[in-house]
This record gives sequence, C-alpha cells and structure tokens, in this order.
Amino acid sequence: MDTNTLSRFEQTYAEALPKLSTPWRAAEAPAPELVVLNEPVARELGLDPDELRSPEGVAFLVGRVPDEVETVAQVYAGHQFGGYSPRLGDGRALLVGELTDAHGRRRDLHLKGSGRTPFARGGDGKAVIGPMLREYLISEAMHALGIPTTRSLAVVRTGESVFREGPQPGAVLSRVAASHLRVGTFEYAAALRDPELLRGLADYAIERHHPEARAADNPYLEFYRRVMRAQAALIVDWMGVGFIHGVMNTDNVTISGETIDYGPCAFMDAFDPGTVFSSIDTGGRYAYGNQPSVGQWNLARFGEALLPLFAPDEDAAIELAMEVLTEFGTLYNELALERMSAKLGLARPDAGLVEAILGLLHRDKVDFTNFFRALAAGTAEGLFTDRAVFAAWAEKRASLLPADPTAVHAAMDALNPAYIPRNHRVEEALLAAQFGNLEPFDRLLTAVQAPFEVRAGLEDLAEPDPDEGRGFRTFCGT
Ligand code: AMP
Ligand code: MG
Repeated sequence: MDTNTLSRFEQTYAEALPKLSTPWRAAEAPAPELVVLNEPVARELGLDPDELRSPEGVAFLVGRVPDEVETVAQVYAGHQFGGYSPRLGDGRALLVGELTDAHGRRRDLHLKGSGRTPFARGGDGKAVIGPMLREYLISEAMHALGIPTTRSLAVVRTGESVFREGPQPGAVLSRVAASHLRVGTFEYAAALRDPELLRGLADYAIERHHPEARAADNPYLEFYRRVMRAQAALIVDWMGVGFIHGVMNTDNVTISGETIDYGPCAFMDAFDPGTVFSSIDTGGRYAYGNQPSVGQWNLARFGEALLPLFAPDEDAAIELAMEVLTEFGTLYNELALERMSAKLGLARPDAGLVEAILGLLHRDKVDFTNFFRALAAGTAEGLFTDRAVFAAWAEKRASLLPADPTAVHAAMDALNPAYIPRNHRVEEALLAAQFGNLEPFDRLLTAVQAPFEVRAGLEDLAEPDPDEGRGFRTFCGT
C-alpha cells in the first residue's frame, strides 16, 4: 500500500473518545489469499483494486498494516436476548481506520475474524470462510435492494485452519460502515456514569450521523428522535423483503441506521410472522413479526442510556424520552402501511387490503417474494388454495389501482425483488466455496446484485426451496 493511501486513514473516533476503544493489532495470518474483492466499494473508498489484489494489499486486508496505521478494538455493552452484558466489544474485530469516500462520507474500514482482542471473552477471535462469504453475499444483496447496510469489501482466507464443527478454512471479512456506533456503545458509556464521556459520545455521533440535530432546542433529544426514525425506516425495509435479522441485540443496532452483523440472518420464504431461523432464538424473540416491537424495545434501552442528556431532572427526561418512543409506533405503522401498499401497487395506502392479503399469504404459506412479482404479472391466483377468496380480494385491489396498468406493473417490479439470497441457494453456494468452487457463489451474487432485473438462465434462483426450508437453521459467532 502506498504511503498516500495509508496517510488517508484516520481514527477520529479513537482520538475523540479514547475510553471507548483500545489500540490492538491483528493476529498473524500464515498465508493470506484473496477470495473475493468488491471493486466498486474499493473504488468508492479511493482504494486501488489492483493494489488490494497485490500480496501487500491482501496482507493489509487481514490487518497486517504498517506502524503508522493504528488499528483499534472498540468496546460496547448490550442487551442480548433481553439480558444486559456490561462489556462486549470487538472480540474478533478491528477498526482499521476511517476513510473519506468519493462522496465525502466518513466510512469505517473494519475487519472481522482478525484474532482475539481484550474483549474476546471465551471466543477464539477467528472467523471461517462460509459465514464470512455469507455476510458478503447478504450485505451486498441488501445494498442492491436499497436497504441501508454495511458493505463488504473483501473476504480473505488466512491460510489457517479454524475449528468449528470440524476444521474449516479461516477467513477475514473486511467491511465498510458509516460507523460502528451502536446502541450498545451508549449503554456502555452510560453504565460508566461518566457524564462527560456520554456527552462526548453523543456529540461525536451527532456530528457524524445526525448533524441537523445540532440546531434543535434539545439537540440530544432530537438526536434520539433521528436515530429512532432511521431504525423505524430500516425495519420497514427489512419487513418489506422478508428479512429476518436474527439477533437484534442492542449491540447490533446502529446509530447510523445501517443493518449490521449478518451472523444468523435469513430471508423468509413462505409468509409467516412467526418465522425464526436462529438456532439460539428458541423463544422466537427475534421472529420476523416481532422485529418492529423489538426495534422499539431496543430504542427504549437507547433512550435510557441518553436520559442524563435530555434534562437534568430524571422524571422530565423520562417524559421526553417516552414522547419519542411513542412516536416510533405511529411512524412505523405509517411507513409499513405505505410500503406494503406500494408493494401491492396501490394508488393510496389501504390497511384493510394489506391485512387481508397478509392473512391469505399466511394461511396458504405463499412465498413472500414471488407473490408480489406474480401479482404484478397477473399470475398470483394459482398461489392460493381458495381461488374465489383471492379473486374477491383482487377485485377490490383492482378498484384501488392507478389508471395506467403498465406503470403499475413497472413500479411494482421496481420495488419487489425477483431474486433474494434464498437460504437453500446460499447454503449450496457456501458449501461449494468451502471446497474451492466459487462458481455458485458468483452466480448467486450476480443475481442478488440486480434483484429487480429478471435474467434468462437464473430462473432456478427465483424458486423457493422445494423442501420448504424444513430444518433450516442459522448460527451466531460463526
Ligand atoms: P455477535 O452475536 O456476532 O454480534 O457477537 C457478539 C459478541 O461476541 C461480540 O462482542 C463479538 O465480538 C463476540 N464474538 C463472536 N464470535 C467471536 C469469536 N469467535 N471470538 C471472539 N469473540 C467473538
Ligand atoms: Mg455484533
């Protein structure tokens, strides 16, 4: 890496808030080998793809960086499945630094799987190729779906064997985020009962993500409101495509409003609000249909952390926080109704029509993704057992459509994806990749990177799992 590139890395977060991170170095990787590189993301960051492909570049992507780049591990707390953990943090990750991208935005370059840090607790600090490629694929799919997300820059094999369910090729994912500030970061600062630290963190976050809040009468409350809005919008996006995050712990809730941490996430096939894939989510806390209320619960924890900043008197502060938290419900319902109505092609939101179709989809276990494409194409009737009931619904819908049918069809197809990373296809691609065959991965990536564009030869990737995903499970900490 040339010195010009290296000198572009900054650590404004670590410098402004030294109590919230610790300088740390990546573990040695015996034989780093590039598996996949996201050239558009590299260019956006002002990094030269050819340079990243060179042996020095690949070593950089596993954290072998020159002395002048000071990498850090960030600390945070978090509510995991409702229980508070006072100290989590980057157990197996490092912040390489911040880069100003081609659009003038400050972005974090972060490594996952780069070795144990002081926050590792019981973990080995490593990651393996399958789950890292999974994050790469799904985060790129989310981006292409227009959903705020961290991006993936590269996956590099380390040349080391890492034990999971048997030995697996070790790997490091490099990802890019608007920042890695989480609700859990604020919970950590609040728990230290260090008012200056909390204020400094909030000021930093406002500057970086919500600078408009500065001008408000109560900037911290306005900051809270803006994070609330970003999270409401994000969850609407997730619900609209059947995305189940799987581990909506407060340490995985970003202040930027980006989706982060793709461990146990998955897309729902047959519509069922109770859908859960994560092996550890036995109570269904993070089921598809629970995501909005869990989002609000997480924002309540965020509000609690920020209380001292809202007002000197605690009761007054609580009242202010409650106001914002209550707005979440109203805003979410409004945005969700708008989104679902638009997915149906309606001229105006119609709650009755939306509810009715979700009921039918649930009853008949209809594929959530394919339903909307079929509806636009006029072929949805065959997806339902009781065709008369669907026909009655469709008739009502027809009366609520805009006049121009071609425009409706086009608008629906621009909002409803044809390709999502279907679980059985993802599994198939990762299995092949583990054995060195990247062809299925590349093919699936190509499909989900242009999710609204139907292409000949990719038909199988739009089909639901013939086994209906029976027994499909996802995992954390992989
Ligand atoms: P996650 O569920 O991926 O958000 O991770 C929760 C916490 O566990 C974070 O603090 C991670 O850094 C940590 N963690 C997950 N896997 C490992 C690992 N293999 N080694 C060390 N820490 C880990
Ligand atoms: Mg996490």
